[in-house]
Amino acid sequence: MDCIFCKIGQKEIPSEIIWESQNLLAFQDIHPMAPVHVLLIPKKHIESLVRFQPEDKGLMAEIFGAIPEVAQLLGIKEKGFQTLIRTGKGGGQEVPHLHIHILGGTHF
Ligand code: 5GP
Ligand code: ZN
Repeated sequence: MDCIFCKIGQKEIPSEIIWESQNLLAFQDIHPMAPVHVLLIPKKHIESLVRFQPEDKGLMAEIFGAIPEVAQLLGIKEKGFQTLIRTGKGGGQEVPHLHIHILGGTHF
């Protein structure tokens, strides 16, 4: 499959990696919208939030557990941050592989 975030997850395409676990990867967004802008992805190809399958429930929990961990590494856990998930064309999603934007380092 020709998916850029699958390739980043498999390290076939380089990225600035912030944090990694067996199933997840957090890396710098290439076009940051804020002083801190990191994307958190499952390494498994899931197209979007509405394509989670029942067997992905554990992965969903891992993602939510990873957000504060990544925020801690980025120094924004206590200051506060935004998370953004775009879903589908109408939601402005450009890369069809689920990703959570973690944005911070400014006042929104
Ligand atoms: P979306 O609009 O799908 O929610 O967000 C896609 C995000 O992926 C954008 O913020 C864009 O800058 C980022 N992005 C797209 N291609 C690459 C890439 O090859 N490397 C990295 N690090 N970020 C990318
Ligand atoms: Zn993918």
